[in-house]
Amino acid sequence: MQLSGKILSAGKGNSEAWEPYYRARKMVEDGEDVIELTVGDHDIKTAPDIINAMFESARDGKTGYTIIPGIEPLRKAVAARVEKNSGVETDFKNVVITSGGQAALLASHLAVLNPGDRAIATDPFYPTYPGTIRAAGGEFTPLPARARNSFLPVREDIEAAVPGAKSLLFNSPNNPTGAVYPAETLGLIAEAACRHDLWLISDEVYETQIWQGHHSSIRELDGMQERTLVIGSMSKSHAMTGSRVGWIVGPHDVMASIEDLVTVATFGVPEFIQEAAIFALEQGTELEEQVAAPFRSRREIALRILREQQAVGYFPPSGAMYLMLNIRATGLSGMQFANKLIDEEKVAVMPGESFGAAAAGHIRIAMTVEDARFEDALGRLVRLANGLASKR
Ligand code: PMP
Repeated sequence: MQLSGKILSAGKGNSEAWEPYYRARKMVEDGEDVIELTVGDHDIKTAPDIINAMFESARDGKTGYTIIPGIEPLRKAVAARVEKNSGVETDFKNVVITSGGQAALLASHLAVLNPGDRAIATDPFYPTYPGTIRAAGGEFTPLPARARNSFLPVREDIEAAVPGAKSLLFNSPNNPTGAVYPAETLGLIAEAACRHDLWLISDEVYETQIWQGHHSSIRELDGMQERTLVIGSMSKSHAMTGSRVGWIVGPHDVMASIEDLVTVATFGVPEFIQEAAIFALEQGTELEEQVAAPFRSRREIALRILREQQAVGYFPPSGAMYLMLNIRATGLSGMQFANKLIDEEKVAVMPGESFGAAAAGHIRIAMTVEDARFEDALGRLVRLANGLASKR
């Protein structure tokens, strides 16, 4: 008996890239003191009053099946937030609530791809992207966002990737690079999407983490509303990664079909989670800024350390909770460096290769441990890189 190509390809090519992460996890379980800068989970927990809202909702009996596309008050709250931030008229029928941004990514691709359709994603990419596209039956096509172009896709690379494609997925603010796409880049993507009749899937889950510049959604541009699906989530903005609540914003007819998909996929998101999400959104930008603040200050700590050395190249992130570092001067690949860093300095990071070919020769750091430990980890990383670079 054979499993389907879809499921077999969902994890294809990715397992090795996670090796440093699993190795570090095992060492920590065995009692070793490893500083883990691997996955994008906050070091703070979901705020106690959000948990209280969740508890009260559950205690009030909101524990049964619920309305498939999400309860109307949450859809309305998301629509109001999107309208306020983007200036684009948005109502609750433009919104479907999903089990986190990840389920939104899969549902969006299932909604627009036929088997074998070419689906583009910018590279470096969040590591689930290729598997998500393949699980939806698409043929994953990377669009390089090269380090030399500040990790932004440029016209010639866009032109090379788009002919014959059905969809284009991109992520700004970007995981893993920290790039925030400026108006010019959004304009290039929008123009190519019109010319080649592409669906756009715009992953904006880091929209509240902006350190320089300005986040705008491609859905704001002329003619983009009818072809854009925006992916949102409470995970990063409200430190609610474990609650699994996110959404898709798109045209009414597409959202009605996505509702059918949610019916057969998850049958909705628990109501007590949705009510907690409403409570969290009602707290406004103050809470969002509070959740983002530690990453803003760790970014400063990192830049201060990195400015004083030459062995590690860096790209000051404009947004999101990561740092992308170029370790080519050490003569090692991202994977080799990540493994050596665990062995010799007890610091775990993700090899650039986990995020696609355009991130080779890099490592990604998640700024997700408290400041003093974070500073210590960066000091160790620079020490290792300096030692290796000076021997060459
Ligand atoms: N998109 C990007 C770029 C991410 O980094 C993540 C999580 N790390 C997600 C989507 C999915 O997040 P969630 O499912 O928790 O909303």
